[in-house]
Amino acid sequence: MTKHTFRKKWGQNFLQDPNIIRKIVAQLDPQPHDIVIEIGSGQGALTFELAKQVNTVHAVEIDPILVDYLNERAPENVNVIHQDILELDLHQFSGDVKIIGNLPYNITSPIMFKFLDWPVWSKMVFMTQREVAQRITSIHGNKTYGRLSVMTQALSDVELSFTVPKTVFFPQPDVTSAILTFEPISTSVTDLDHFSHVVKQAFGQRRKTLRNTLKGLFSADELGDFSGKRAEELSVQDFITLSTLK
Ligand code: SAH
Repeated sequence: MTKHTFRKKWGQNFLQDPNIIRKIVAQLDPQPHDIVIEIGSGQGALTFELAKQVNTVHAVEIDPILVDYLNERAPENVNVIHQDILELDLHQFSGDVKIIGNLPYNITSPIMFKFLDWPVWSKMVFMTQREVAQRITSIHGNKTYGRLSVMTQALSDVELSFTVPKTVFFPQPDVTSAILTFEPISTSVTDLDHFSHVVKQAFGQRRKTLRNTLKGLFSADELGDFSGKRAEELSVQDFITLSTLK
């Protein structure tokens, strides 16, 4: 692809190393009957490896030049979709769905929550910046524990599986990446908007106690033992308990 200029705004860092490509694909535990949605297929590094192992790959890509590139080379079981992943209508997919993506770093969160809010998949494997992956998987009491950790862990079982060095990409990104693996859970969050609001308020001023940050939402009585604590001291389960108080 000599003529393709890499678009920084679309987070284009393409995987080059066959070993790491195989390792990432294996992390999705691909099965012959699987339907895989791939976010940002680029030059098909993950796409073509996946296509050898699963029934169908829906390869979603925003860059028209890369869409042409993929269409010219894709085997029959790859369905190239020229669309912004954030606009993609998920209702069209059913069956044994799994999701994979070396995510464009500037829209990692909206992409992640789009799929966390659509619990049809049986596994997701996302590559993000290592620092973001650490925040997502952080637990309470930790400096990096925050809104992102609580929201993600309330909706899924997520682990940081392994890190990926810059050197396996072209062009090389500025920072180390990491692979996150998501498994579905049956969440006890009943009202996601309310839950999200409580978590946002609580972490809005990290150093203040919940008595202060959640003043408008809960009375001191309702807060009980949580009242004198700071957001970072509450586990994900604590937040779920808190949000179901009312
Ligand atoms: N999967 C490939 C490419 C990863 S780079 C590999 O690992 O080598 C991220 C890819 O996401 C790029 O191809 C970029 O064009 C694409 N992309 C960026 N924003 C997107 C969006 N909103 N919707 C779909 N694809 C997007």
